[in-house]
Amino acid sequence: MKKAFEADTGRVLNIVINSLYSEKEIFLRELISNSSDALDKRRFLSLTSKHDKIGTDELKIEISTDKKNHTLTINDNGIGMDQEDLEQALGTIAKSGTTEFLAELEKTTKKDKKSKEVNLIGQFGVGFYSAFMVSEKVEVTSKKVGGTKANKWISDGVSGYEIGKADKSEPGTEIVLHIKKSEKEYLDKERIGFITRKYSDHLMYAVNYLDDGKDPEILNKASAIWTREKKDISSEQYEEFYKQIGAGFNKPLLTLHNKVEGTLSYTNLLFIPDSRPFDLFQMDVKSKIKLYSNRVLISDDSEDILPRWLRFVKGVVDTSDVDLNVSREMLQHNSALNKISKALKKRVLNELKKMKDKDTEKYNAFWKEFGIVMKEGIYEDFDLKNEILEISKFHSMKQNNDVFLAEYAEGMNPEQKEIFYIASENKEMAEGSPHLEVFKKKKLDVLFFTDPIDTFWLSMAGEFQGKKFTSITKGDIDLSAFSDEKKKKEKKDNIVIDGLVKKIKDILGENVQDVKTSSKLVDSPCCLVAPDSGMDVQMERIMKIQNKDFKGMPRILEINPDHDIIKKLNDIKDKEDDALKDAAYLLFDQAKMVEGELPLDISLFNKRLSKFMGLALK
Ligand code: ADP
Ligand code: MG
Repeated sequence: MKKAFEADTGRVLNIVINSLYSEKEIFLRELISNSSDALDKRRFLSLTSKHDKIGTDELKIEISTDKKNHTLTINDNGIGMDQEDLEQALGTIAKSGTTEFLAELEKTTKKDKKSKEVNLIGQFGVGFYSAFMVSEKVEVTSKKVGGTKANKWISDGVSGYEIGKADKSEPGTEIVLHIKKSEKEYLDKERIGFITRKYSDHLMYAVNYLDDGKDPEILNKASAIWTREKKDISSEQYEEFYKQIGAGFNKPLLTLHNKVEGTLSYTNLLFIPDSRPFDLFQMDVKSKIKLYSNRVLISDDSEDILPRWLRFVKGVVDTSDVDLNVSREMLQHNSALNKISKALKKRVLNELKKMKDKDTEKYNAFWKEFGIVMKEGIYEDFDLKNEILEISKFHSMKQNNDVFLAEYAEGMNPEQKEIFYIASENKEMAEGSPHLEVFKKKKLDVLFFTDPIDTFWLSMAGEFQGKKFTSITKGDIDLSAFSDEKKKKEKKDNIVIDGLVKKIKDILGENVQDVKTSSKLVDSPCCLVAPDSGMDVQMERIMKIQNKDFKGMPRILEINPDHDIIKKLNDIKDKEDDALKDAAYLLFDQAKMVEGELPLDISLFNKRLSKFMGLALK
């Protein structure tokens, strides 16, 4: 009976078949890697259960060709598939991220479309379908370890697939590709050998080429790349492995390959990719590392090796200190693994520190992609907060560039004890904030914290190397220690507008906690500050997004006694009640808007503004 592919499967198939012209050869990599996965699974089973005993050296991948019938066959004695597996694994791609795959493709620009597609295919696990790039028909005959019956799956990759009974004595999977006339090259032994070495050299298993009447010939080196010596591995080989495990598209930004022996023995081959993986910000994504015990795969996506804030690190950890039989649930509590995890966290941080000191450009590229994730570690891994802060970069107002906290500290005024920051939605909004005016005037630097995550780690890490993080939108910051010429004059003015301050406070009532004369504003007539005891303005905004009922606290309106508007208002404060009332609200609304908020009442705001414009244009 013929069955149709799922809707999305059809779409992906189309992309796979029609848009990968120059990279058709990767179909072989995909099929070999599937066989290798199947062998991993069987090896694991054999080592952990009594029922299926098979020696590691008996596990094989075999390739053969038949030029007369135009077929290429890939055979493995891995775990195999039963009927349900065949339907599930080959009939639907929907299992893993098809929707994301398609969405990601739509975002891609024409120019780098092709290379992205090729890599996305590996990343999203639609690898098997690449067989249809070179085949007009594919037959998969498989028998599952422990099963009694074999099945055959047949498809032309267009109309759907059929499943029926088949004969197969040994467990495993045989895939027969009926090669298209135009793709004859894939029946050629030399070509197959070349592709196998190019992509599958480091596989743990031998890939044999079977030629009628001749001895099998092993095409690859068949040694797990991480078990080899660093000096014997070329950067191309590292790169190939990096791509094969779906770690990234181009070249890794950083490769960490280490063998550790001692109380703990393990090997790590970890990569930091050069750009963000598609799921970096998806809810609940965890770190996923391949965990091996003496080259036997224990878990394809162990979440217990690296913390969430290092989830962009990809690769392999192989250790003999973790028992093969350990269950997924127990891995979390495995003490050897916990120790390895601790050591690896430090290693990654150390390597990043080295990169920071040695290669600024590379580090900046790293920080741009992953800094935002690293900062999660400041509050998730409290012990490492200082280490992470040391390599964190923030935008400096004075330098108009991203700087390390140590660089900020170097540029501090000798009297300055604190690190001044403004938390804001983005750089532009921070730049427009009236709070900055006095800092500019006094030549004090302010850091812009523009990632939502910043407000969270700030609540955990109050200081860096003894210097308190101080929000400039909060409370009364005492800047009197930092001299500037106009100070005396400000003092004098303060006294003069006390009456106006009181009037505005009466008008605004509960909308503000207080109205004060500002000693900080330069060009703006007014601004809002959070009370000393309250939340930072940006924190409050985030709380409001998360909880619709969250009201927040009324803030303090500070007015600038030197500003023309304020001076004029001061002159009329005892006469025109209506104009003063409108002006007070307009000032308040202006202060709200510069913080990225809406006016108190939009229609009233419009009326008042129109009224004032009418007067000005008379
Ligand atoms: P992925 O390998 O990323 O899961 P593929 O499209 O390459 O995606 O393969 C789909 C699924 O088909 C595999 O996950 C596996 O369950 C099954 N499969 C493919 N080839 C084999 C094989 N040789 N032996 C056993 N299972 C296989
Ligand atoms: Mg695959």
